[in-house]
This record gives sequence, C-alpha cells and structure tokens, in this order.
Amino acid sequence: MTSSGYVMAIDQGTTSTRVIVYDHNGNTIGRIKKNVDQHIRFNGWIEHDANQIWSDVRQLMHEILINLSISSEDIITIGITNQRETTVLWDKNTGEPIAPAIGWQSKQSNEISEDLKSAGLEQFIYSKTGLWIDSYFSATKIMWLVKENPYVQMLIDKNQLAFGTIDSWLLWKLTDGNVHATDYTNASRTMLFNIHTLNWDEELLDLFNIDESILPEVKNSSDDFGSTVLNGIKVPIGALAGDQQAALVGHKAFNDGDIKSTYGTGAFIVMNTGNIPLISKNKLLTTIAYGINGEINYALEGSIFVAGSAVQWLEEGMEIIDNASLSSAYAYRSRNTLPFQDIYLVPAFTGLGAPYWDQKIRGAIFGLTRSTRKEDLVRATIEALAYQTKDILDVMIEDSDINISSLFIDGGAASNEYLHEFMANLLQIDINRPTNLEMTSRGIAYLAGLKYNVWDSIDKLPKTPELLTINFEKELQEDLRNKYIKWQNAVMSAQKFAFDG
Ligand code: ADP
Repeated sequence: MTSSGYVMAIDQGTTSTRVIVYDHNGNTIGRIKKNVDQHIRFNGWIEHDANQIWSDVRQLMHEILINLSISSEDIITIGITNQRETTVLWDKNTGEPIAPAIGWQSKQSNEISEDLKSAGLEQFIYSKTGLWIDSYFSATKIMWLVKENPYVQMLIDKNQLAFGTIDSWLLWKLTDGNVHATDYTNASRTMLFNIHTLNWDEELLDLFNIDESILPEVKNSSDDFGSTVLNGIKVPIGALAGDQQAALVGHKAFNDGDIKSTYGTGAFIVMNTGNIPLISKNKLLTTIAYGINGEINYALEGSIFVAGSAVQWLEEGMEIIDNASLSSAYAYRSRNTLPFQDIYLVPAFTGLGAPYWDQKIRGAIFGLTRSTRKEDLVRATIEALAYQTKDILDVMIEDSDINISSLFIDGGAASNEYLHEFMANLLQIDINRPTNLEMTSRGIAYLAGLKYNVWDSIDKLPKTPELLTINFEKELQEDLRNKYIKWQNAVMSAQKFAFDG
C-alpha cells in the first residue's frame, strides 16, 4: 500500500464538474467545482458544449493543485466518473466535436426509439443489453446524429469518427488522442454493448447501422487507461466509471443486495446483484456495477429522470425559491400550516423512467385549491422524489427477492432533511446518509487507487464517512400508504394526457 501521495477524482456531472483530491485515509484534501451550462431547448433537447466541459476539467485540475500547493508528482493516479449516456461524436484527426453533446435526458431521438419499440424489439434488446428502449441511452442519439448530419457519415466512411460518452471524451483529450477507451459501466449504458458476452454486439450494430470503428475499447472500471501530462509530469489514469456505479463503490456496496440511491439531477437506485445479471420482470435495468481485476459485478437499476432538477426548476424556472437549499424549510412549513393542502406533482418534464418508461408523459400538478401556497408546491415536488423511489424499490424487492431493510442515500438533493424524513416514513425503512455526500467521486477515487496500490484490495479501502440515520416511524404508515395511492393515480392521469411534441 502507498501511504503518501493523493488520488485525484474528476466528477463530470450534469450540473457541475468537480475535481476532488483524496489521501490514502479517504480524507478529502481539496475540492473545486464549476457549474456546467446545459442548453435546454423548448422541445426537450438538452445539450452541452463538449469543448467547454473539457476546458473546465483541465482548468480545475490545474487550479486544485495550486490551491493545495501540491505538485502533480504528488498525484498517484486519476479517476474519471461522469454523467452517463451523454453522447459525444468527434473527429479523430482534429479532436473537435462535430456536434453539441446530446445530454442523457435529451429527447432528439424519441421518434427513433418509438420506431424500434413498434418493430417489437424491446425484449430482444433487453436480453442483450439489459436496457429498455428509450432515447435516454446513447444508441439512438448516435443514430439521430448520423441521420441529421451528412458530415457524420462522411467521417465514418473515412474511418475518422469517434464516439464516446463523457468519460471517453475526457480520456481522449487527457491522453492527447492516444487512448480511445471506456469501461464496462459506461459501455453498458449505450444500448450497443452485450452485458453477457462483454462485447459490442454485432447484431445490434447491424440493426442500428452503427459502424464498430467509431466505438471505444472497453476495459475494467479499475484499469490502465494510459496517462495524462499534468504540469510536465505523467500521471496515470486508473479508473473510469459512470457516476451511479461509482457512487455504489463509494458506499462500499460490494455485497449482493447492497443498495444505494443517489439524488442529483435525476435519481438512480442501484442494487449490487453480484456476478449474476438478474432479469427484471418490472422494467428495471440490468446493468454492470463495475469491473475490477477482470471480475464483473452486475446491478439492478431504477432510473428516475427528474429529481433535483425539479427543485432546480422551482428555483430557476418558477422562481418560487431563491435557492435549492431552502426547499426543505418550505416543505416543513407547508406540512405544518393549516389547512393542509394535499397536492401531487408529477415531475415528468422529460418523460418518466423506471418502471414506466414513458417518453410522452409530461409534468402535471393535481389537487390545487384556492388556498394552495407556493410552500405546498415545494413540498409536493420533494415528496415526488420519495414516491418515485417507492415506485422503484417495490419492484426491486420483487425482482431480486431481497428484502430491503435500509437504504444509503447521497447526491446534492439528499441533503434535504424533509426528503430524508418523508422517505424513511413512506418506505418504512431506516435511511442512512453520509455526512459527506460526495460518494461518486469517492467511488472513482477508490477504483483508481485500487489499480495503483493506494489500497491493495477492497477490504483495505478507508472507512465510510460518518452516517446520519433517520429511523422510520411506524404509526405514519397508513396515512402515507393512502398518499402513495393518490400519487399512483396522479401518474396514471398524467399518462392519459400524452404529449405528441
Ligand atoms: P449532478 O451530479 O446531477 O449534477 P448533484 O449531486 O450535484 O447533481 O446535485 C445537484 C441537484 O440537487 C440540483 O438539481 C439541485 O437543484 C439539487 N439540490 C441541491 N440541494 C438541494 C436541497 N437541499 N434540496 C433539494 N434539492 C437540492
């Protein structure tokens, strides 16, 4: 084990890019962050500037060294974790993106996805990739880019086009175009990767008419990904992993049935199912949790598209609150003010993910009266995060046959006390939240550190940061069960109001 030096984690999320430095005890030595511009268009398109993401990462990596007064020689290894599925195509010769990065929530390829569903391909694609057809995954985003832009096909014909999720894009840039690779977790989100054979699936590539030459090499999450030159010093890159899988590792959820839920822009509930890809009867995803030393762990996942972003909408879109951090106080005020307003908000701004997989549904509010206050809307928004969690946990218990007795949560919105308490009572389980919420970057630091002997094995990883546990109250069960039925009715009513845009 190496006891001096640090591990640098790059966490490229939907709303921000963060660089965090850890020591071998798992202490956070330094942290720096920059917000990411999301170009949100009226029709549900959400794009990023891939060059901006890259220049932010590079700048933050340099700035944190200056802030901490450490040299790049002190960095043993770097890990990259990323918003998943977001699709970048670039020219291998120039290193320039050929279009804006299409965000994971973006809806350009809805029609292509609907066509695949109409062709009856859902089970076929699930059986290979573990994914249910949706514009969320990268494959249809690539197909859309090829269809829209003749230049893309021209570059493919010249063997000059590269595809990558954000991890691959950053790796390409960090290695100066020398390494075009990704890891199992990110590959498993493209809808092109066979999670059973661990290869890009030729049948699917044919079906989608995607050329294999554009795809990155797929490696373990903890692996040799080449090196980057930082202030003249070569620093090895020891890990790539999608943010949700990295958070699972951050919680050290290495055992079968270990489960975590991360509340960022979206919310993602992931259960480690060991070496077995469990088949879901309830439209959960079967996906890869991580690959370490050639051993693959699988996971069941429930993906919620809109979680913290609904709170961001209250702040920036509706201007009901000045800051997301005030939302918990608003929710408590709503609950404690009479007459109680029983409001339900379905935050299906970009469709609903698991277990509904409805791309056409849009947001709705039910139960408004003349007495409804803005505090009530805030409470309904927060409660929707908990209801969506229950939608998924109920079917996850069914699919896995594992009884869930407690849940670990993290992510920006997990700091919301009202959410934490409401969710414990709704789900009737104890909920643990680490006092340090950065489980994603912690997880990628662990994966990189495992490759370069900062830690010899997963048993030698540092202790998890202190937990804040909320125990559920039994007597609230009946009341909240009724509320949950109303939530389900609200979703069904919103689904009837299908959106054709
Ligand atoms: P991501 O990794 O997806 O960019 P983060 O984990 O950084 O997301 O969390 C940011 C999200 O959490 C934003 O959508 C923000 O509105 C939301 N958020 C931050 N603080 C709170 C809070 N106290 N209550 C509810 N939501 C919050």
